[in-house]
Amino acid sequence: MNFPTQLFINGQPRAASNGKTLSLTNPANEEVLCETAAATTADVEAAIHGAHTAFEKGWRDCLPSRRAEIMFQIARVLREHAEELSQLESLCIGKPITDARDEIAMGARTFEYYAGAISKFCGQTIPVARGGFDFTLRQPMGVVAAIVPWNFPFPIATWKVAPALAAGNCVVLKPARQSPLTALRLGELAAQAGLPPGVLQVLSGSGNEIGDALVQHPLIRKISFTGSTAVGSRIMQLAGRDIKRVSLELGGKSPNIVFADADLQKAATSSPMSVFANTGQDCCARSRIFVERTACDKFVELFVAATKRIVVDDPSKAETQVGPLVSSEQRESVEEYLQTVRGRRHKIMCGGDRPARKGYYLNPALVLGCETSDRAWREEIFGPVACLRPFDNEEEMLAEVNASPYGLSGSLWTNNLQRALRVARRVESGVLSVNCHNSLHLEAPFGGFKQSGLGRDLGMAAMEGYTELKNVYIAE
Ligand code: NAD
Repeated sequence: MNFPTQLFINGQPRAASNGKTLSLTNPANEEVLCETAAATTADVEAAIHGAHTAFEKGWRDCLPSRRAEIMFQIARVLREHAEELSQLESLCIGKPITDARDEIAMGARTFEYYAGAISKFCGQTIPVARGGFDFTLRQPMGVVAAIVPWNFPFPIATWKVAPALAAGNCVVLKPARQSPLTALRLGELAAQAGLPPGVLQVLSGSGNEIGDALVQHPLIRKISFTGSTAVGSRIMQLAGRDIKRVSLELGGKSPNIVFADADLQKAATSSPMSVFANTGQDCCARSRIFVERTACDKFVELFVAATKRIVVDDPSKAETQVGPLVSSEQRESVEEYLQTVRGRRHKIMCGGDRPARKGYYLNPALVLGCETSDRAWREEIFGPVACLRPFDNEEEMLAEVNASPYGLSGSLWTNNLQRALRVARRVESGVLSVNCHNSLHLEAPFGGFKQSGLGRDLGMAAMEGYTELKNVYIAE
């Protein structure tokens, strides 16, 4: 298989300015996959200047119809290369191939959605008191830095790149150190589809080394970041100095609330994959489960049985539902949390052990007996571990749900419509699903309350986030 291993700057692949590379390991077999270029601050400088020139010299003024045409063409080229992109993603981070195929398809649809949005994205005319003619314009910002994580590398990159380009910006995309391959290929394929040189630059490498240079550069007008709350907080502080625009999609510790009047069979058998999909490395993972006490025993029995049926196996097999964790460090970090719940008070109902095979695998675990002060209950584990606590009273349950500093996602199961409406309004989260676990739709806004973030990806809300709003008044 051919791996894209070079930075992508001004329409050309190129090595890092100092020739440095980082090696990628396949988490499914612990073998080295390839070496990819590790960008330096000189490469950051070159990428940002190239993007700024591309913005000034053409992309800003490119006809909306032409921008849309190029973006539809990018979607078409991505579809032609869907299998190659899926394989790259799966090999790089251990994502089950079936999930990788779905995510690449979603990335192509994201380009189509925003290509179509270009001709429907309008300003307003406003009847101001003074008469005359007052109208608003949505104008591109310039060069946007898009910084993305390793858990859903391709779709999250497209959620940022597509609306930013559609709104007329140029983008410097920085994938995570662990998962640069599909981002680098996106740069090449977008160029092949007709995107002018410099409009999309891709810098692989370490966030620690080039993050500050990218975020603080005076030509970067907006930073669109998805990743940990710790790094998001640092970016917001650095951006504050020059009042740069930021949008942040950060961590989560989402609740799964199950009332006794719910369809228990459906709730309990679908809930394991709402935590364990992507090996639990999911910002939306419903890892704090609240079950009404009278339904608890039945729920736990069905949940454990469904978890034991999950196929934990090689990500290259079509039937695999859960692959390895991304790295040995990530598995060790999850195991440290498991260590904290091996006391007498807790009960691990299933999983938490390593399957006897090579690769960074860990069997999905359900933990009972947590106190609300336990780290495993409060902190984002980012691995295949769910904790469950029974509740007796709706008000007390809601107080505990909202005690988390996070507020990204969640699920609510009940067949009582009034209760669904009442509780949905009270849960402090940016997205919530009722009687299912789907909280992500590319046509609808996605993002968090509180320390889960700021601003929204997806839907038309994202497109607004890549523009400045200008008001123009013409006297009569
Ligand atoms: P991370 O914060 O370590 O890294 C994210 C990106 O930031 C990477 O590209 C990394 O190279 C870069 N980075 C690291 N240090 C930087 C710095 N100082 N300046 C600028 N960039 C820097 O996160 P991760 O481990 O890749 O991803 C896991 C985290 O992402 C979890 O907390 C998860 O919840 C969160 N996440 C959130 C969402 C969401 O939509 N809310 C989606 C996916 C993941």
